[in-house]
Amino acid sequence: MAGEPQADCLFCKIVSGDVPATVVKETETTLAFRDINPQAPVHCLVIPKVHYPDAASLAAAEPQIAADILRDAGEVALQENGDKGFRIVFNTGAGAGQTVFHAHAHVLGGRGFNWPPG
Ligand code: C5P
Repeated sequence: MAGEPQADCLFCKIVSGDVPATVVKETETTLAFRDINPQAPVHCLVIPKVHYPDAASLAAAEPQIAADILRDAGEVALQENGDKGFRIVFNTGAGAGQTVFHAHAHVLGGRGFNWPPG
C-alpha cells in the first residue's frame, strides 16, 4: 500500500532503526540525518517516515508531509550552519542522479554553490 515501509528500502531501514544513521532532527512525520558521503561541510538528508519513491510522488499523496520536509530543511540548516544560506536539492529520477528511491531532501551548506548546478 502507498506509504508503507518497503523491505528493500535503505531509508525505510534507517526509519525503523535497522540501519544506523546520525540523526540531527526527528518529528512525528520526518527524520533528518547526516549524509554518509557529504558533498559540503553541512550535508543532511530530510526524509519522510512513510515510503514514497521520490519527492514529487510524496507531494502528490501527502502534501502536508512534503511541507514538513521543507520546514525541517530550514530548521536543520539553521541548526547546523546558522543563518548563512543553504541549498535544498531533490534529485528526482535516475536521470537526475537519484540513487535511493525513498523521497529525500538534501540540505547543503557551509560553502559556496554554483549556478546552474552540475
Ligand atoms: O539523491 P540521491 O538518491 O543520489 O541521494 C542519496 C544519498 O543518500 C547520497 O547522498 C548518499 O550519500 C546518501 N546515503 C546515506 N546513507 C546511506 C546510504 C546513502 O546518507 N546509508
